[in-house]
Amino acid sequence: MKIICVGRNYVDHAKELGNKVPNEPVIFLKPETALIPKGHPFHYPAFTNDLHYEVELVVKISRNGKKIEEKFAHKYYDSIGIGIDFTARDLQSKLKAKGLPWEKAKGWDYSAPLSRDFINIRDFKNASDICFGLKKNGEWVQQGQSADMLFSIDQLIAHVSKYFMLKMGDLIFTGTPEGVGSVEIDDKLVAYIEGKSMLKLTVH
Ligand code: MG
Repeated sequence: MKIICVGRNYVDHAKELGNKVPNEPVIFLKPETALIPKGHPFHYPAFTNDLHYEVELVVKISRNGKKIEEKFAHKYYDSIGIGIDFTARDLQSKLKAKGLPWEKAKGWDYSAPLSRDFINIRDFKNASDICFGLKKNGEWVQQGQSADMLFSIDQLIAHVSKYFMLKMGDLIFTGTPEGVGSVEIDDKLVAYIEGKSMLKLTVH
């Protein structure tokens, strides 16, 4: 099982970090150990002083496939959840400045909290425009809608599967909208899809 993540998939987020808007999807991976086992607390890692949340819709792959054409991509997923692509921003900036891979800043243990429940695509009023967001200590910090993705879910699946065979159960973190920011110990985060609370987390 693998976790595929998309960077800079919302224009306003790419700009807030001073990045160019990409002309093809920016892809990186997190290992399976980035997921948090049920009931396990989330701890602020010792190797960062600038831990950022990035709330993202997460697609669960429901069928194995490779080199999937965009027009068939919808057959390869049937549910959407929500996750947080936690990022050690200070470490990522250092690695980026040296042109090095981001994995240490992105793929560490428990860096990808994920909702337990996924919502079936058929249960959305409009599956191509899903509203989602994140509250920190009761205040909205991120609010996005999937229609603003630079690359749609189907385009992402087509692109990713050119390089990586997709297997049932793989996850795609589809990128974060604007509003990323830092957390401190004791902060409480709640992630929502269409106004429904899907994931709650306290930083320990
Ligand atoms: Mg992200």
